Amino acid sequence: MLSRKFGILTIHFDTEHSIGKETIGKGSTLAGHIPPEVIAEIRNRTNIVEVVSNFLTLKRVGRNYVALCPFHQEKTPSFHVNEERQIYYCFGACKEGGDVFKFLMKIEGQEFYEVVRELARKHQIPLPREATRSRKGEERKERGYRINTMAAAFFQQALAQAHERVGPYLERRGISKETVERFALGYAPQSWEALTRHLSRSREGIETARELGLVVAGRKGGHYDRFRGRLIFPIHDLYGRVVAFGGRIVGKDVPENTPKYLNSPESFLYRKGEVLYGLYQAREEIRQRQEAIVVEGYLDLIALFTFGFRNAVATLGTALTPAQVGLLKRFTPRIVTLFDGDAAGEKATRRAIELGLELGLEVEVARLPPGEDPDSLLHGRGAEALEAALSARSPALTHLVEESLATAPAGAPGKARVVRELIPFLRPVRDPIELSIHIGKVADALGIDEIFVRRCLMEEKGHRRGAEQRRKAEQREKPQTDPTGKGEGSLPIAEETLLYLALSFTDTLEALTEKAEEVLPWMSAPPLRELLAHMVEQWQQEGRISPVTEMIEHFKEERTRDLLLRISTQDRAITADQAMQALHECLARIEAGYLRRQEKRLQRSIRAAEAAQDGETMATLLQEFHEIIRRKQKISIL
Ligand SMILES: [Zn+2]
Repeated sequence: MLSRKFGILTIHFDTEHSIGKETIGKGSTLAGHIPPEVIAEIRNRTNIVEVVSNFLTLKRVGRNYVALCPFHQEKTPSFHVNEERQIYYCFGACKEGGDVFKFLMKIEGQEFYEVVRELARKHQIPLPREATRSRKGEERKERGYRINTMAAAFFQQALAQAHERVGPYLERRGISKETVERFALGYAPQSWEALTRHLSRSREGIETARELGLVVAGRKGGHYDRFRGRLIFPIHDLYGRVVAFGGRIVGKDVPENTPKYLNSPESFLYRKGEVLYGLYQAREEIRQRQEAIVVEGYLDLIALFTFGFRNAVATLGTALTPAQVGLLKRFTPRIVTLFDGDAAGEKATRRAIELGLELGLEVEVARLPPGEDPDSLLHGRGAEALEAALSARSPALTHLVEESLATAPAGAPGKARVVRELIPFLRPVRDPIELSIHIGKVADALGIDEIFVRRCLMEEKGHRRGAEQRRKAEQREKPQTDPTGKGEGSLPIAEETLLYLALSFTDTLEALTEKAEEVLPWMSAPPLRELLAHMVEQWQQEGRISPVTEMIEHFKEERTRDLLLRISTQDRAITADQAMQALHECLARIEAGYLRRQEKRLQRSIRAAEAAQDGETMATLLQEFHEIIRRKQKISIL
């Protein structure tokens, strides 16, 4: 869809404009107009490696950077980022790939224009006015973040002014100026209308503040402040935007039955269980240490930070959720839970272990002395006490075994019960190697042979088999579809290599262009042929080929786009010196394959002509056949 507007050629895009396999947000209204040259500029100014590093731990391997794929469960990294081409591709199960826009859309769940706008803002690239005119929902979000930012600034200001009231509290807790700044801590004055008045300057502001739960609508009209006389903890998302607030009572003149903690209600910016308090501040440290300490509350986290443990996050009262595990896995393969030593803490620990085993996050359990939480322990006994608790941590399954043993009867019956109690935790483990390791650990901890654990697991499976078989039978009736939609048919290796060579070395593309008319019909895989034909054509006409991020826009077929991404992300051990030799070998193989197919085709036709007693056709076919055989022999001599 091209339209001419204000004398600039602009492309009218929707989310399909971005490369990759999915159309996210299909059916949404069109966002606006962004000229393709602006999109190209944004892409050029952005480095995909830097962007991806904000989410994943990248490791340099050869020409690429690799990481555990954030889009599917895996144990060995198959997610590759190619800096030179500014693309990424997952060689694992999900085959997700694309450019920096696609990556951000996918990982942040945003739409194309949102991602473009954010990157444009970051690089200070002005967008045409129409492009910033976004959908209503987007404007609402923007307004929400704006109001939360205003409120956070208001609370911070109030904290600076409320030294008399809050100062002693902060001092007692050892909360330093640095901590206050790092977490943007604030104070909600002991007033019904301080924030309301502050935000009332615009009608729109107070409406949004009500939707966000910062103010509450009064019964007789008007609004009042939700947070009063509280130390305020702004809750940030991964991008540092304030999505909600928590508040803790400070001071003594507090009415009875006032809850100690108060949180923002869920809103269009905030969903409980989908953020982790402190992750924004701790993510660098977590990535570097490859470990996150998970605690329950605001003050636990603040205390840890104050005492130098800066790789911690807080779940904020909820048990760990799958969404939170997903967030953590972007930064680290391992967490250490540090929950209270009471029943609720143990329950939260078990939930974390369960999720960790299921979702492939290593969980270790650090235990606190009875009656202590991280905050009380640190203030009572100092950093060494917490350090000791952390070093005495146990692996998830060892912890479960110990917990079960503590209440189990002595001897063999007790051990049997422990094993049975552990089965539900082992059942969801998908990776057979990992399962085997876990089984070994359980057996070791109990001092029994692994075989007994395995047998229990088998028996358990036996009970479940009936249901399983019914489900499988149902599945068989459904047509089998390829979950990636990309087809599983294997491609001829030589043809794929040919494409790789053409993409990587201009000499080979030049040579191929000269022989294109001959070579293209040899290729058996239509998408590869289509790709090569496009490159050859562009090379002939312009003497260059577009970057992959642009080239991909020419192809509509999902399979073709996927192939282009995959092949251009590959890092093969072929140097420029070897490229021409490799090209000749590939061509020989491709031609041989072509001749083999021709030979078979001709044999079939000859048999048919024979049966039809069609002498004339027979003669022509035989001539063709001999020509094919001659060419085959020539190649085999080479
Ligand atoms: Zn993947």
